Amino acid sequence: MDLKNIKRVAWIVNAIILLLVFGLMWFFHICEVTFMVWFSIPTALIYIVGFVLIKKNMLDFYVRMVYMWLTFYMACSTVCLGYDYGFHLYCFSMIPIIFATDYMAYRLKHKRVKAKAISFAIEAVYLICTGYPALFGPIYQRDQQISAFFWIFNAITVFGFLIYYISYLMHSVIQTEEKLVEAAHIDQLTRLYNRHYMLTCLEELPPDSTEGFLAIADIDNFKKINDTYGHNAGDAVLKTVAQIMQSECEGCTVARWGGEEFLVLSKGDFVDGKEMLDSMRTRIAEKPVVFDDVSIPVTLTIGLTVKHPGQSIDTWIHEADSKLYIGKNSGKNCVVI
Ligand code: GH3
Ligand code: MG
Ligand code: MG
Repeated sequence: MDLKNIKRVAWIVNAIILLLVFGLMWFFHICEVTFMVWFSIPTALIYIVGFVLIKKNMLDFYVRMVYMWLTFYMACSTVCLGYDYGFHLYCFSMIPIIFATDYMAYRLKHKRVKAKAISFAIEAVYLICTGYPALFGPIYQRDQQISAFFWIFNAITVFGFLIYYISYLMHSVIQTEEKLVEAAHIDQLTRLYNRHYMLTCLEELPPDSTEGFLAIADIDNFKKINDTYGHNAGDAVLKTVAQIMQSECEGCTVARWGGEEFLVLSKGDFVDGKEMLDSMRTRIAEKPVVFDDVSIPVTLTIGLTVKHPGQSIDTWIHEADSKLYIGKNSGKNCVVI
């Protein structure tokens, strides 16, 4: 979530709370809870100022101010009316909200919110404001129907906040994890899988399996491409070759193994694999890469192997590498089996 979205959510939450404050003010007026009617005036002002703070990107200050006041409001209404009204329930939604806020501050590289310390402070306020009416009774005595209405209303609001914030937190955590997994597995330049991911795939193969094939493809004279056309042109060649390999090698796992080397792993038939790799090699050789209106001829040499029973991953890769080496020494632009 970026700053713009966070500001939008903060604005909506601020508006909802302000409406709630006005609604509650009206109810307090009807129930003749005079203290809370007067108390609602500075509360509404706080939320009106809140809109200005959100607009001016002063989110850190806004959160602290709203939190302090909300805790104060909740405590005063509980002391005034007792806990039959359910105002103390807001404490439970304030805890996940403060942790969600801290998480947002962390992601936006803002000053962190002391979520744990604030949560303990909320707990202390909760104990005091529910302890007082438990010991001495509430300051204002109202009839049961009104308290039941408030209880239901407050409980619904608190559950609403709880569900929204916890689902937001979970969504953010899952999204972040997906991005991290992608960053750990994908090569940023070519968008192919990286070496680390390919090694994981290789390690997951059953040790005695002999099905499928492995190929190492290396761009020929790539250093010369860089030297002649520039490093950016070299990058463009890598990207184009990667795209072609990805689209031609159906059902295979294709990874950037290093610099200008690619590794292809497949569970498919070896003979079909040879044909597929050869047609891919031909396609690359026949269609030069165009970068800045300059045509750059590109060719690939490929070493292809099947796995022998009990053969280690290292020796399998080494075997494909040896085939590649043979290809490089016999004119390049070929598939060696
Ligand atoms: P051969 O035909 O024998 O494979 O020769 P080659 O020139 O392709 O191989 P060599 O190992 O001599 O050079 C590879 C070059 O690839 C050297 C390095 O600077 C370049 N290279 C490695 N990674 C990148 C990259 O991400 N972008 C660009 N533009 N060049 C890279
Ligand atoms: Mg090369
Ligand atoms: Mg190489």
